[in-house]
Amino acid sequence: MPHVHEYDYVVIGGGTAGSVIASRLTEDPDVTVAVIEGGPSDVGRDDVLTLRRWTGLLGGELDYDYPTTEQPRGNSHIRHSRARVLGGCSSHNTLIAFKPLPSDWDEWEEAGARGWGAVPMEAYYARLLNNIVPVDEKDRNAVARDFVDAARQALGVPRVEGFNRRPFTEGAGFFDLAYHPETNKRSSASVAYLHPVLDRRPNLHLLLETWAYRLELAGSRAEGVHVRTKDGAELLIRARNEVVLCAGAVDSPRLLLHSGTGPARDLEALGIPVAHDLPGVGENLLDHPESVIVWETHGPIPENSATDSDAGLFVRRDPGHPGPDLMFHFYQVPFTDNPERLGYERPAHGVSMTPNIPKPRSRGRLYLTSADPSVKPALDFRYFTDEDDHDGRTLVDGIRIAREIARTEPLAGWLKREVCPGPEILGDAELSEYARRAAHTVYHPAGTCRMGAADDELAVVDPELRIRGLDGIRVADASVFPAMPAVNPMVGVLMVGERAVDLLKGGA
Ligand SMILES: Cc1cc2nc3c(=O)[nH]c(=O)nc-3n(C[C@H](O)[C@H](O)[C@H](O)COP(=O)(O)OP(=O)(O)OC[C@H]3O[C@@H](n4cnc5c(N)ncnc54)[C@H](O)[C@@H]3O)c2cc1C
Repeated sequence: MPHVHEYDYVVIGGGTAGSVIASRLTEDPDVTVAVIEGGPSDVGRDDVLTLRRWTGLLGGELDYDYPTTEQPRGNSHIRHSRARVLGGCSSHNTLIAFKPLPSDWDEWEEAGARGWGAVPMEAYYARLLNNIVPVDEKDRNAVARDFVDAARQALGVPRVEGFNRRPFTEGAGFFDLAYHPETNKRSSASVAYLHPVLDRRPNLHLLLETWAYRLELAGSRAEGVHVRTKDGAELLIRARNEVVLCAGAVDSPRLLLHSGTGPARDLEALGIPVAHDLPGVGENLLDHPESVIVWETHGPIPENSATDSDAGLFVRRDPGHPGPDLMFHFYQVPFTDNPERLGYERPAHGVSMTPNIPKPRSRGRLYLTSADPSVKPALDFRYFTDEDDHDGRTLVDGIRIAREIARTEPLAGWLKREVCPGPEILGDAELSEYARRAAHTVYHPAGTCRMGAADDELAVVDPELRIRGLDGIRVADASVFPAMPAVNPMVGVLMVGERAVDLLKGGA
């Protein structure tokens, strides 16, 4: 028999949304919360807390590192980094901080997420505790400034100072980041929500390096979760009130599936006893894929930066589209990890532009290949498989637009030559082939426990984030996104966390 512990709430995953929820719930000293977190603490870890060291975490000991399945129209070598540390991916990412656009929230509402429209969601942004500020002047690299000026010149888009100030459809500028510019320290979910209270709240219990592997279900009620600690002890952590699943877009559906909650036929085929037939679990796998175009520069780039990717561009090609339909990150480094696999070389000095698909139409699927909970799930993003090839065409347009910007001063003066795809690659088909094969992810998986109307059979959670057909359990993380926001998703996840707290308290 496992040892049993009981708390009012059990939060599974002390990541981006989980940190918000655990912090807010324990503001009431009479409420006890256990956080089950697979990774260690981030307190005192400069390798985690220093924002600019983010690339050092990719593929390391704090990364679950999920592979993708074969992608016939994309890049089959993409690895999906997912952070194994307190704060989750907000302890690992670049902390580019975009409030989702009003059109993004309204799209959720139209998809059946009643109450999640732009107007009610605005209040949750105001509650966020993260230090969201524009990239500091000292971190604004000369080549990134010249990228912004060249993009304005070439495309006639406005310069944007503060992308979160008002909704936009187009613009070039430096991002807002959740960081402390004076030290380059992260203002992750854990730093902003948990660090200030860790030693002051006896009602907040962190179970670190502890893995949740199966929910405890009694009929349709979730009573708790089975976990294994770092030392191999098996515990049952019970929730008097509710279990809140915040393990992220890969691990939330994974845990549900291993608990017998998912498409019955798939579970039966693997010999997992079906507890609750819920066909949407793992469906609707979304991401923001992007490709890359790289230039060699005449010499080294100045050193100063916050993340090495501090500025970007949004374009709206289709005037009827509710928001931007093409985005770029500008990297102050030659980002050739994927092109090198296609035979390209990394120049000693260089910069990159990365055309990104804000509203991808391809939809993928996450599924198990084994009943063994330690086997990683399969992630089939089905990149670039949408019927009209909207996604592939967006990248081709992006490369052409990137070249226009590169030809324009003041950026043009920095650039010696286009390294990849290379100036001889001009036709639509060739550009598309390169762009899809060299594509990478910006690590935004979402949507695998999609929220929808209570009578939507393929929805996993209802608009109150309750798992359809179960009691005592909600999901609150990137997996509940019904659709991808046009912008980077972390702030949206933090806002899901804040709203989840209202729902748990019965106040929304
Ligand atoms: C490298 C990288 C760069 C990114 N850059 C940006 C960016 O600049 N801007 C932006 O908006 N978004 C960015 N993102 C995406 C963004 O960080 C995520 O969308 C968001 O943080 C996801 O939050 P979450 O709460 O859904 O999951 P997470 O933050 O991943 O939290 C899940 C937590 O659950 C824990 N966990 C999982 N399974 C279990 C289990 N079974 N038992 C116990 N614990 C478990 C994990 O350890 C983790 O702490 C980036 C992501 C990455 C990886």
